[in-house]
Amino acid sequence: MKANEIADYFVDRTTFAMGLSDNIRRMLLTPDRQLQVKIVLERDNGEVVTFTGFRVQHSNARGPYKGGLRYHPLVDRDEAQGLASLMTWKTALVDIPYGGGKGGIDCEAASLTPRELEILTRKFVRAVGSVIGPYDDIPAPDMNTNARVMAWIMDEYAKIYGFNPAVVTGKPVDLFGSLGREEATGQGVFLTTEAFLQERGMEMSRIRLAIQGFGNVGSWAAHFFHRAGAKIVAVSDVRGAIYNPEGIDVVALREHVRRYGAILGFEGGDAMPGDGLLTCDCDVLIPAAMGGVVTRDIARGIRARVIVEAANAPVLPEAEDFLTDKGVIVLPDILVNAGGVTVSYYEWVQNIQQLRWTPAQILEGLTSKMREAYGRVSALSREKGVTLREAAYIIAIGRVAKAVTLRGAY
Ligand code: NAD
Repeated sequence: MKANEIADYFVDRTTFAMGLSDNIRRMLLTPDRQLQVKIVLERDNGEVVTFTGFRVQHSNARGPYKGGLRYHPLVDRDEAQGLASLMTWKTALVDIPYGGGKGGIDCEAASLTPRELEILTRKFVRAVGSVIGPYDDIPAPDMNTNARVMAWIMDEYAKIYGFNPAVVTGKPVDLFGSLGREEATGQGVFLTTEAFLQERGMEMSRIRLAIQGFGNVGSWAAHFFHRAGAKIVAVSDVRGAIYNPEGIDVVALREHVRRYGAILGFEGGDAMPGDGLLTCDCDVLIPAAMGGVVTRDIARGIRARVIVEAANAPVLPEAEDFLTDKGVIVLPDILVNAGGVTVSYYEWVQNIQQLRWTPAQILEGLTSKMREAYGRVSALSREKGVTLREAAYIIAIGRVAKAVTLRGAY
């Protein structure tokens, strides 16, 4: 199942359960705009390569389109559309004044030199520049893009349209970025899980976690869980995984990954095949890499009691129904990983107001947003006897449907 099919499935199911009309359902499912562009890159060795870039704008009913930019060979229009749709529901769920967008380039970022990446990014901005803007569509980091890439976007956009740092978020702190943005998604993953555990009377110090993916989201989530006393027993990245039932030293692992660029070679755990992580012995499983990794087959082997969707759409619907029947609780992506876009919103506000918030202001804002969103989702889930994902979609779709209706159709 592709990301757009997964997103559409949940929207379909929820609009039906909510009794919304077919017309509203179709309006919510159909993206506003899909842009596909060709990007030709002359590599450092003289080879000329052609890539395809995408920007999908799903809905701006509640504010400018907002969503990340992904550099990965599997990026295509369907994936961008599905992820753009998820952004619409995510921004609505945490009630920030944005819609949903997403984009990317179908490149293997690790095989490109920094200079090639910069040229590729600048060419992408030239190709999609007319549809992005501080009040139109605001990109941010996603897989294989980071603050450096966001700085190039800001700079290239300024050359064509004039200085306006609010066109992109996730910028370096030294270049109009926000304090706390880099760690925000991982911190949001932690805050949501903490709220869930507290509500159920489960102690953080007794929790054994496994985390798939050790990039921005996975490594920061690991940091916050480790700091709070949880035991991280397994971690993986694209090249492999490690397991340590006594708990991995996250501080040492983060330093190892910073130096060597991968988990491979870290001696604080036993190496195991990467796909073994999802079914390893743990209490909480955190997929923080790719979408679609928890299939029905994998679900059969999952031993965790709770799955925290730090990545976008890691659990397939067919697997979720099976897991729910087994009593496994899934904390849904549009809630769990909304911390990134929340602090992106704070960055945008700071850029527009030309001021800087303190770390305490950012943390207070993020913490209250995540706790409030979790509280609403959890309460509705209990009230209606539905899963946390169904409750999250009911809240998000209700807000977007209301905005769409208030705007009218003329
Ligand atoms: P990243 O590029 O920083 O890190 C990705 C990590 O996943 C790397 O460690 C990589 O080695 C690993 N990985 C890739 N394929 C893997 C595989 N098959 N098995 C195991 N590990 C694999 O990306 P990120 O920003 O951390 O994003 C991770 C996920 O979180 C994505 O689904 C993204 O859409 C989602 N997300 C990110 C943000 C954000 O602010 N960065 C916000 C919301 C959601």
